[in-house]
Amino acid sequence: MTALSLMRLIPSPPAIIEKGEIIFEERDLLKLTEKEMRQVRGGKISMIFQDPMTSLNPVFTCGYQIKEILLQHRICAPKDADKLISKTLLEVGITDPNRIVSNYPHQLSGGMRQRVMIAMALACSPRLLIADEPTTALDVTVQARILDLLHHLQENKSMSMVLITHNLGIVGDIAHDVLVMYAGEVMEKAPTGVLFKEPAHPYTQSLLETIPQIGNKKKRLTVIPGEVPTLRNIPGGCPFHPRCKFATSRCKNEHPGIYSLSDNHQVRCFLYDK
Ligand code: SF4
Repeated sequence: MTALSLMRLIPSPPAIIEKGEIIFEERDLLKLTEKEMRQVRGGKISMIFQDPMTSLNPVFTCGYQIKEILLQHRICAPKDADKLISKTLLEVGITDPNRIVSNYPHQLSGGMRQRVMIAMALACSPRLLIADEPTTALDVTVQARILDLLHHLQENKSMSMVLITHNLGIVGDIAHDVLVMYAGEVMEKAPTGVLFKEPAHPYTQSLLETIPQIGNKKKRLTVIPGEVPTLRNIPGGCPFHPRCKFATSRCKNEHPGIYSLSDNHQVRCFLYDK
């Protein structure tokens, strides 16, 4: 939802953005016209979705779908598009681009489809790549390869990346800074090293405790009690209070603000209200 809102892809109506700003390259994306926004989407900001099978169009070849983006954003002349498509496919680790351009999505493996999605996202050399659970639909070995690829591309192309994931291992490997979100709100913000070493929010602490440790002989894995609330029914006060072992009556009645623990570490919890 957050990533789609950044791209202004949530259908409106029914959705309404009531307040706030989305500042990208010193412009508020909420103030752009739909025509200007179309230049930003896919051109300056690209997105990779969870499941490549539902994001690629099954009735067009992969080459056609990448070409469409290049021509839409006028990245190159039509006569040069094929060369650029091959170059982009090589960049994402596809060694036989000529075969892939003429293939339909159903003819490729899950990993290959995700590489094609990444190639589409990178075709216009975006400044920002939003990767929304990009490896959820893939098996573990392919997952590792795709993450390596994203990491490598992000460094080599000087591109920023917003990675949305529930996998803390991936966070530890790739992210520089982390926002921990719960029920649609930021609960904690910190550089990755600080977050793993000194997690401050009870939710972050609980999440880290749920990671199984090698050598730990406990019979039962640690879980966070209770259930994630639906967004239609978010508890009042602190949204985490029904599951928090530190909750007080204040947590049930008041919504916590953001408290700063240092210049780059903030947390939304009354435990830090001095
Ligand atoms: S505000 Fe209260 S309920 Fe929420 S995380 Fe902090 S201690 Fe727990």
